[in-house]
Amino acid sequence: MAERAYLDWNATAPLRPQAREAWQDALAVVGNPSSVHAEGRAARRLIEQAREDVAHLVGARPADVIFTASGTEANMLALSPAIETGGEKRPRDRLLISAIEHASVRAGGRFPREAIEDIPVDADGRVDLAALAEAMSRALSRASRPLVSIMLANNETGVVQPVADAAAIVHAAKGLLHVDAVQAAGRVPCDMDSLGADLLTLSGHKIGGPKGAGALVRANEGIHFADPLIRGGGQERGLRAGTENVAGIAAFGAAAAAARRQMAEEAAHMLELRDRLEAGLKAISPPAVIFGAAADRLPNTTLFAAPGMKAETAVIAFDLEGVALSSGAACSSGKVQPSHVLAAMGVSAALRGAVRVSLGWTTTQADVEMFLGAWRKRTTALSKGGIAA
Ligand code: PLP
Repeated sequence: MAERAYLDWNATAPLRPQAREAWQDALAVVGNPSSVHAEGRAARRLIEQAREDVAHLVGARPADVIFTASGTEANMLALSPAIETGGEKRPRDRLLISAIEHASVRAGGRFPREAIEDIPVDADGRVDLAALAEAMSRALSRASRPLVSIMLANNETGVVQPVADAAAIVHAAKGLLHVDAVQAAGRVPCDMDSLGADLLTLSGHKIGGPKGAGALVRANEGIHFADPLIRGGGQERGLRAGTENVAGIAAFGAAAAAARRQMAEEAAHMLELRDRLEAGLKAISPPAVIFGAAADRLPNTTLFAAPGMKAETAVIAFDLEGVALSSGAACSSGKVQPSHVLAAMGVSAALRGAVRVSLGWTTTQADVEMFLGAWRKRTTALSKGGIAA
């Protein structure tokens, strides 16, 4: 049996071999992609190849991919009041976001706090489309120009959002839709056209690329950012200045190409193991609750809680047993906050200390067994001595 089971793929995935190779090759290229000489052109070629591969993953044109340093940064670039479409230059005055977005969207980008409005989710963690429609019709009646941000899959529950339906509502009211696809990419199809996304965020390290590379993809050239994120040398269409992270971007591109080629096979592999994991989890502890189980979910994610279980203690206990996973709760400045996702789903405070297990393409049956062994021990300890699992 493996010494450790890494089951925290939603936090970050291991580097794919194709990405490692692309990264190492790119490190040997000396040029600055902005230089006109042969060395510079060689670096530029690596970036443009990566742009093609990333575009291909989401069915976009390479010219519409803007590389950033992370998914967080791509979200920051996307959430701007100064996005012009169809020649209309009036600022977007309202940002509507689902109540379960990642912190990098919940922060609101460059919108003032008072312009941000939450759209609720149902008990299964799916965005409430009727509430979205109401908010959009309010915006339309005020001649407002809203930007809407809805993630494709939630990082805690794995619940896949009805993005195409949301897009129809948003577009009918003349809104613009940004989709954070950081957790969905490489696990479920992310074709921008089918989703109806106007802007879409990706992060390299979640799909087997290195940390420090992300992208914002726009649906077409008619979407214009009048407010660059970083001004300077004009890189990335003037939206994100600074000499590019050539090796990181090249490796991100290689990871995107591999993720696209292998998605169907990897998703089936993860789903099979995840189903076994959930069946084992419930067999050991019937009262355990798996959040979003009734909804369409990513094939790799399980967020669960059990009566009496304390997430922070459980994560440490699993780690000591050789299993790496995380709590659904966010830890900031040393204080563990209850999950805003579970709170939005109306989960009682007693069950909000949930634990997230997330699998990946190299996860094995032995990893699942290791998790179940550790869970059996915690459950026994909990029932014997009232020790918090
Ligand atoms: N969006 C979602 C849904 C995420 O899960 C994450 C990271 O966990 C991010 C955005 C941020 O991505 P990055 O780590 O590249 O900044």
